[in-house]
Amino acid sequence: MKAKDMKFFKQILIKEKERLFKDLDEKEKNNLGKSFKDISGEVSSHKIHMADIASDNAEENTSLDLLSSEEKHLKQIQNALKRIEKKSYGICTKCGKEISMKRLKAVPFAELCLNCQQTEER
Ligand SMILES: [Zn+2]
Repeated sequence: MKAKDMKFFKQILIKEKERLFKDLDEKEKNNLGKSFKDISGEVSSHKIHMADIASDNAEENTSLDLLSSEEKHLKQIQNALKRIEKKSYGICTKCGKEISMKRLKAVPFAELCLNCQQTEER
């Protein structure tokens, strides 16, 4: 893939990542709002500390099955950005062939070429 094309997809992926981060941030704020609603007035520092520990643990045991669809999507995008860094972006991780531009434009974080994707889904 040409460096110019790589840059093009990188920008798309970064924009998408930022959008997802915002979405997840909003979600988190909403969740916190709910769980701290019962605490009248001041927020218990103990509870916040416990929440921090809980989220740290959750991050360590990250399994794709436990992630929300946004988080899964975010992971795919982060992986795609890593592949851009390694210059392996746009190459099928299974058969090593180039993924078509048409497919990458539709699915910028695609790891597999259309053929392999169809085989996987079968
Ligand atoms: Zn392939």
